[in-house]
Amino acid sequence: MAVTAVVGLQWGDEGKGKLVDALAARADYVVRYASGSNAGHTVIVNGRRFVFHIVPSGILHQRTTCLICRGVAFDPESFFSELKSLQEAKIACERRLWVSRRAHLVLPIHKLEDEALDRLLGIGTTKRGVGPCYADRAYRLGIRVIDLYSPATIRQRIKTLLEVKSPLLRKAQIEPPSFDRLFSWCEDVSQRLQSFVADTAAILQKALNSGAEILLEGAQGVMLDIDHGTYPYVTSCHPATDGISSGCGVSLLPQRVIGVLKCYTTRVGAGPFPTEEEGDIGEILRGRGGEFGATTSRPRRCGWLDLPALKYACRIAAPTQLFVTKLDVLAGLQKIKVCNAYRIGQDMLTEFPADISVLEKVEPLFKEFCGWGDVKGVGAFSRLPFQALEFLAFIEEELGVEVGGVSVGSERMELLERRS
Ligand code: GDP
Repeated sequence: MAVTAVVGLQWGDEGKGKLVDALAARADYVVRYASGSNAGHTVIVNGRRFVFHIVPSGILHQRTTCLICRGVAFDPESFFSELKSLQEAKIACERRLWVSRRAHLVLPIHKLEDEALDRLLGIGTTKRGVGPCYADRAYRLGIRVIDLYSPATIRQRIKTLLEVKSPLLRKAQIEPPSFDRLFSWCEDVSQRLQSFVADTAAILQKALNSGAEILLEGAQGVMLDIDHGTYPYVTSCHPATDGISSGCGVSLLPQRVIGVLKCYTTRVGAGPFPTEEEGDIGEILRGRGGEFGATTSRPRRCGWLDLPALKYACRIAAPTQLFVTKLDVLAGLQKIKVCNAYRIGQDMLTEFPADISVLEKVEPLFKEFCGWGDVKGVGAFSRLPFQALEFLAFIEEELGVEVGGVSVGSERMELLERRS
């Protein structure tokens, strides 16, 4: 398969990083096309834990070329800190990790703005400055990677940014950074970044023309999409398939789209969550699943699998295959529930509601499954306990998409591909 995309079908944190890492072993190029350092992918190799926010998870495979494309809100601080841990692990990145000239920079002032908005409006972001960075792109105030090499442009943009943002920061009792501080930050970044800057769209087009194996690494998930998600509790971009071409700067239709879903549901921060379990079950899922954010360590809210939300997500992301993660987390439970419909009063909902006040009121209807025993050591998809296979068959039938594999633990090898 020449072009494969991995996208999250829930509210992010589905375990995409691990699948990307596995698929990257066969890829020539691994590409990030959306989101910023508010996304976090965790890959565990031989007990060593790597957390990536900006660098594609495929970097762990020495033969891949990794691209951070135009659609990513590029946070240089996160980039340099990930580079440092890769260097410490003796993973060379030079000449195989490239950053788009057109990517917009997350500046220190964007992080302060996130903090200010949180203080004034309580919007609860990851405070990584990603929303303000994308907003400035739309306002035409942003600084792109290429602009770092034009001191006159940076000077003028910093001046405007300070004029526009200082009143908001002061209102939130945050002292705006000085012009000189922002300017020297840009100068420093321009020097340290120079050898990684490239025309990533041209590199990708050339790779496509040569028939290279390309892996597109989605961040976050469909339900966090700025338009299709549970607005306003969403991220500020298109993290799934619809963000690919615009985020890459190349028209791309992946032949294979792998939709990743966890076998239960989690979400971070506020927003409607029909299948949430706030009691013991929620605690069990959080504890066993290690459901604490890779970016902020915030505890994730946990609940049962939500098929109406997943059906909606499948319509948007059009997966050709599903990959179900964390089957081990549900192992040992007596009963496992799956929501397969929403009801309000006597009415069954046939469509996923656009109005979140409706979503807040829906009553989830559940189908119960018998729990399964240990899955970690089974070694093959076909040898999964029959209860787990029944659970997976139900997901396939309801979503109309085949399950191509599952994950049964956090380690690189704990992944079972289905062979037909
Ligand atoms: P992503 O953003 O979709 O890549 O998800 P994260 O990396 O933030 O969260 C997934 C977490 O689950 C990471 O800590 C992974 O190591 C872990 N993980 C992935 N697959 C499995 C699995 O099958 N079982 C368990 N127990 N953990 C998993």
